[in-house]
Amino acid sequence: MPPASDYAVEVRGIRKRYGRVVAVAGVDFEVRRGEIFGLIGPNGAGKTTTLECVEGIRRPDAGSIAVLGLDPHRDAARLQRRIGVQLQQAQLQKRIKVREAVRLWSALFDQPVDGDLLLSQLGLESKREAWFLHLSGGQKQRLFIALALINDPELVFLDELTTGLDPQARRAIWELVRGIRARGKTVLLTTHLMEEAERLCDRVAILDHGRIVESGTPAELVARHCPERTVTFRTDPGVDPSPFHGLAELIGLEVEAERLTLRGRGDDFLSAVIDCISAHRVPVRDFHTERANLEDVFLTVTGHSVRE
Ligand code: ATP
Repeated sequence: MPPASDYAVEVRGIRKRYGRVVAVAGVDFEVRRGEIFGLIGPNGAGKTTTLECVEGIRRPDAGSIAVLGLDPHRDAARLQRRIGVQLQQAQLQKRIKVREAVRLWSALFDQPVDGDLLLSQLGLESKREAWFLHLSGGQKQRLFIALALINDPELVFLDELTTGLDPQARRAIWELVRGIRARGKTVLLTTHLMEEAERLCDRVAILDHGRIVESGTPAELVARHCPERTVTFRTDPGVDPSPFHGLAELIGLEVEAERLTLRGRGDDFLSAVIDCISAHRVPVRDFHTERANLEDVFLTVTGHSVRE
C-alpha cells in the first residue's frame, strides 16, 4: 500500500442521509495521486452525494475525508486554489459568452492559467464569442472542463461528465480527461456508464445503494468476477468437436449448425483453443473472441443491471 502522502483523497466511513433516505451508508476509498478514479454505479447509488462531500459542498453525517491532506470543510479556502470542480449545466447563464465565463472564473483566482490557451486546448477557440445557450452539449461540457481547470488544479472532480453526449463527443471528452492525467493531475469522476469507466479509469469503486461493493482496476475486477472468455467460430458441417473437450481450461462447448462456441477460463484458454484447432486441422471461419466487461462485473457483484 502506498504511503498516505500518495493519496490525493482519503475517505473513511462516510455516511449521509436526507431525511429518511440513506444516500451514503458507510463509504471508504482512496484516490492515488496522478490517477483517474471512478465512482461508478446506477442513478441514485450515492455517487453525487459522495463526491459533494469530498468537494466540501456537503458535510457527511459521519466519517472523515482528507483532500490533498486537508479537511474539505475546515480548509475549504485553502483547497479552493488546488482543486477544480466541474459545474452542472444549470449553473451558467444562458447569455453569458464563453470568453466572459472564462474571464469571470479567472478573476476568482490569484494565478489563473491563460484562458485563451485553455480554450484552444479544449477546441473552443472559435466559440469565444458564442453564448452559452448556443453551445452543443459536448461544447458545454468542454467549457465546464475549461472552467474547472482555470486555476491549474492538482485534483479535478467531474460528475457524470458525458451524460447525454453522442459517442463521438464522449470520446473527445475522454481524450481531454486523459490529457489532464498526462499533465500529472488527479481526477475523481462519477459515471453510470460502464464503458466510460472501463476506458477511462485507472481504478474504480462500484457503488450500489450507498455502499462500495467492489473496487480495483477494471481488468482486476473482470479477472476476479468474470474470468470467462468466449471463442466463437464457424467450421465445416459435421466437424468432430471432441478434441476441444480435452482442454483443461474449457467450461462449456456448444455446437450449433456450423458454429462452435467455446467458453473457458484463464489467460491460456485462447492459445489452447488455437493450438487445438491447429493440431487437429479444424477448418475455421469468422473466428472471434469475447471477454466480460465492467457491465458483466456489475451484474455479478450486485445481482442487477446498472440500468435497473
Ligand atoms: P444520480 O446519478 O442520479 O445523481 P447518484 O448515484 O449520484 O445518482 P445521489 O444523487 O447521491 O446518487 O442520490 C442518492 C440518493 O439520495 C437518491 O435516493 C436520491 O434520490 C437521494 N438524494 C440526493 N440528493 C438529495 C437531496 N438533496 N434531498 C433528498 N434526497 C436526495
